[in-house]
Amino acid sequence: MTTIQAYGALAGDQPLQPLQITRRAPGPHDVQIGIAFCGVCHSDLHQVRSEWAGTLYPCVPGHEIVGRVTAVGRHVTRFKEGDLVGVGCIVDSCRHCEECEAGYENYCDGMVGTYNGPTDDPPGHTLGGYSQQVVVDERYVLSIRHPESQLAAVAPLLCAGITTYSPLRHWGAGRGKTVGVVGIGGLGHMGIKLARAMGADVVAFTTSESKRDAASQLGAHEVVVSRHTEEMAAQQGRFDFILNTVAAPHSLDDYLALLKRDGVLALVGAPSSPHPSPNVFNLIMKRRHIAGSLIGGIPETQEMLDFCAEHGIVADIELIRAEQINEAYERMLQGKVKYRFVIDIASMGGQA
Ligand code: NAP
Ligand code: ZN
Ligand code: ZN
Repeated sequence: MTTIQAYGALAGDQPLQPLQITRRAPGPHDVQIGIAFCGVCHSDLHQVRSEWAGTLYPCVPGHEIVGRVTAVGRHVTRFKEGDLVGVGCIVDSCRHCEECEAGYENYCDGMVGTYNGPTDDPPGHTLGGYSQQVVVDERYVLSIRHPESQLAAVAPLLCAGITTYSPLRHWGAGRGKTVGVVGIGGLGHMGIKLARAMGADVVAFTTSESKRDAASQLGAHEVVVSRHTEEMAAQQGRFDFILNTVAAPHSLDDYLALLKRDGVLALVGAPSSPHPSPNVFNLIMKRRHIAGSLIGGIPETQEMLDFCAEHGIVADIELIRAEQINEAYERMLQGKVKYRFVIDIASMGGQA
């Protein structure tokens, strides 16, 4: 066991604070990772503030982890000390169900999240990447092929990247397809970059007038400020696929009406209370679909990282020190981050 520094909360109504936590010594199949950077996902905020059911305390969030391998167990074959690696939202799963065998560990009923998941070693629940070090079975560790100078900006790919890549691929975003991305935050800005790199015509939807120019710079061919009804009306019926990343309840009808026949509105945003029910006529009149998608499996996460390395894609980030995390959460709630906060774990001080 090793004791390390971390940042977490002791209750849902308390701010995050420095904590000491323990990690297991690496077992035969484990990779021990010295964490360099960890992205700040809106899911971290939902979980740590008990906005979703079932948060266990102390809660140490963080599932956009990048760093270097510091030790490996004797049966580890794919990694060695010094390798640049990442860990996303999954640190274990049942490994033998239909989903695990197909590489969809994200849809396994026994999936263990990087934080707030069940674990015996050490007993309790998993603690995430706002910490100096983590020990993970090699099956759930990803290789990073970007240059080391981009490491901090690679971190958000481990959740924001895969959560947008997976549905874009599944529903066939690419050349000849018109794709909308709703909500230009951590997930949404990655969705724009990825859909553009896949060859789609990309339209960004934002509630923030201040993001109009910035969303174009991310690669959107058009930007619509969704508060302007005439701008929304001009988009009716033209989309094959719309990826909705918004972290709060809102009218889905506004976006269903923009889909072509057989178009799909895929929800990845996970607000703590439900969206108002959509008008069923918006579905039946053009055989439209509403769907959902959860992160992505391990093989697809590696595919996404390799795709991003090949296309020179990283997140646009604002690097923060660990003690700025509570302030960062407030700015994230106001949509005032372009586009992902990433914690510089070295700011926690001391050696892991
Ligand atoms: P984020 O950085 O806070 O971005 C969310 C964006 O939604 C905001 O930047 C904002 O964009 C838009 N928005 C519009 N109205 C809003 C409101 N009232 N409150 C908050 N946002 C509003 O969050 P994120 O990290 O991208 O995560 C987005 C959601 O996806 C969260 O609910 C998160 O838990 C969920 N998530 C799901 C998965 C999955 O596997 N399905 C994985 C990761 C995260 P504009 O300013 O452009 O309008
Ligand atoms: Zn996340
Ligand atoms: Zn399984």
